[in-house]
Amino acid sequence: MAMVKKIIKTIKVDADRCNGCRGCEIICSAFHAEPKYSSINPARSRIRVISHRLKDIWLPVFAGGYAAAECAGRDIYMIDGKEYDECGFCRAACPSRDLFKEPDSGLPLKCDMCEGEEMPLCVTWCLNDVLTYEEREVEVEEEEEKPEQLDIGLGSLADKYGVQKLLDAVARMTKKD
Ligand code: SF4
Ligand code: SF4
Repeated sequence: MAMVKKIIKTIKVDADRCNGCRGCEIICSAFHAEPKYSSINPARSRIRVISHRLKDIWLPVFAGGYAAAECAGRDIYMIDGKEYDECGFCRAACPSRDLFKEPDSGLPLKCDMCEGEEMPLCVTWCLNDVLTYEEREVEVEEEEEKPEQLDIGLGSLADKYGVQKLLDAVARMTKKD
């Protein structure tokens, strides 16, 4: 199979620097509001700060892919004397919790790296240099067109949320300001 070069975009998180100001949640939810910047609702943010004040834990996590089922292998992590709950580092919208779900429709939210912007806005808005944008080039096998995967994904979302909610979400996502 042919190999192609692909740019992977990611955000490196230095959790020890985070003070829980939630500026990242505010700008992310404002950027993704309809119309843009018309409202602020951290529940719509694609980055959430997992916090345990008594344990001095402030952990920004940005949303990854949708997981249709709960996973089996959950762990508790001890890092630098701090105990992080199971699921703490997980970036998935999954059935076991409310994180990264659009509050009205329940549809999963995913970080899009602030598509159209030069730099992810949470990165530029974080005054404590917690978030660093990184790009790296990797060689991957050229993906074949697999329409059946799209069908399966759409089918499971339609089963879960209903066709109308799915259509509403697609309309919101494709709407140009
Ligand atoms: S803006 Fe930076 S310091 Fe504030 S909560 Fe987000 S990651 Fe933490
Ligand atoms: S990169 Fe953009 S979409 Fe992703 S979490 Fe940050 S502000 Fe939200």
